[in-house]
Amino acid sequence: MFDRWRATGREVAVLGLARSGEAAALVLRERGIPVYASDAGTGSEVEACAARLRAAGAVADTGGHDLVRLGRAAAVVVSPGVPPEAPAVVAAHAAGVEVVAEVDVGYAALTGQRIAGITGTNGKTTTTALVAHLLASAGVPAAPVGNIGRALAEYARAPGPERWLALELSSFQLHDVHHLRVDVGLVTNLAPDHLDRYPSLAAYQADKARLFERGGAAPVWITNADDAAVQELAAAAPGAHRRFSLAAVADAWYDRDRDALVVDGAAVLPRAELPLLGDHNVANALAASLAARVAGVPSAALADGLRTFRPMKHRLEPVGEVGGVLWINDSKATNVASTEMAVRGMTRPFVLLLGGRHKGEPYARLAAAAAGRCRAVVAYGEAGDLVEADLGPLLHVVRAGPFAEVIETARRLARPGDAVLLSPACSSYDQFRNYEERGATFRAAVEAM
Ligand code: ADP
Repeated sequence: MFDRWRATGREVAVLGLARSGEAAALVLRERGIPVYASDAGTGSEVEACAARLRAAGAVADTGGHDLVRLGRAAAVVVSPGVPPEAPAVVAAHAAGVEVVAEVDVGYAALTGQRIAGITGTNGKTTTTALVAHLLASAGVPAAPVGNIGRALAEYARAPGPERWLALELSSFQLHDVHHLRVDVGLVTNLAPDHLDRYPSLAAYQADKARLFERGGAAPVWITNADDAAVQELAAAAPGAHRRFSLAAVADAWYDRDRDALVVDGAAVLPRAELPLLGDHNVANALAASLAARVAGVPSAALADGLRTFRPMKHRLEPVGEVGGVLWINDSKATNVASTEMAVRGMTRPFVLLLGGRHKGEPYARLAAAAAGRCRAVVAYGEAGDLVEADLGPLLHVVRAGPFAEVIETARRLARPGDAVLLSPACSSYDQFRNYEERGATFRAAVEAM
């Protein structure tokens, strides 16, 4: 790929000047390829990145893309944050220019690491971290890369001793992937998410399906046996298939009678020893265990890694117990499916904080999951009216405005022995910069109590 591009003598364009775009541009510069990098945004971070790229010999534009220049490029590299329908991506396709993803550039620059690619609607980050942790705890050098933190291209520029990389892939990223080959491909689940950013559920699933076109010489597919949509997408993929289930016997499954996680026929861990809340995290642990098995970890060596994994920030993360009330930060739950899972995972009565920017799905199905255990719902933010309309007839719904009032209301409603669960089912952009800021605000409020 690099030789082919260099041979054209033309520029390769990189869209998006954040960490992954910068790393991809530098990978290209280090191979003597002329680079035109651009970002629609401005601001100090983008400008600083542009300055660094210019210092490395690239041409860099901020505040827009030169579409004529893109149309003349040997190829266009798309950063993960750039949606497939962005005008610059559409223009590149229309001009017949080869369009690839940042992970393609990162992949081409690797030095033999094997890849476990992880995608799905929910649980990608947790499962990616689990895969890397299970491998590392069993003595197989491994690192998490991709959306989870360090971009693949960033890793490729400074590789460590890792033999395996757990690579988190979003559906946007998969849209323009053409070179990446995975040794293991794992799909957690497929629920309607990002419907606000996709023209249809079919278009969203089509992007997820692309993972199954990306297998290497002998791929192993790890899929959710309980998810009919995933099974349908995976069915025709050539390679070995391994499945995990919360409901029935599978390669890895949750045996409720024995209350144990079972992998390849062996009970590897009592459920109570997995330090994560919620059955969905049992599913993530089972999926990650299968990936570790493929990488050569014996079943007997899984328990230590599973036991020592810590909940990730903003994902059903217990942040403190005050007056007998456990406050749980699940700010990352930005869709109804995530919140439903969180609610099902609650083992105490709870007050649910629900709201933010509405993403298009109805909230009514949360009532069935919450019935009988939910003391109250605090509905807030732009979605407050919709939450109240959907759940008001079914649950005790209380309205609140600013986030400080949301916390105060929850504090008033919760009784000793309860939990307060921030699992908003909405994006945070009406009141916060992102879900991390929302979760940090929640944590700070709890710490101040
Ligand atoms: P992603 O990276 O796909 O967004 P995360 O691991 O960051 O996934 O988890 C985000 C949220 O999704 C969690 O807070 C949890 O509520 C929910 N979630 C995690 N794993 C699952 C799963 N296997 N099934 C359904 N929901 C899940």
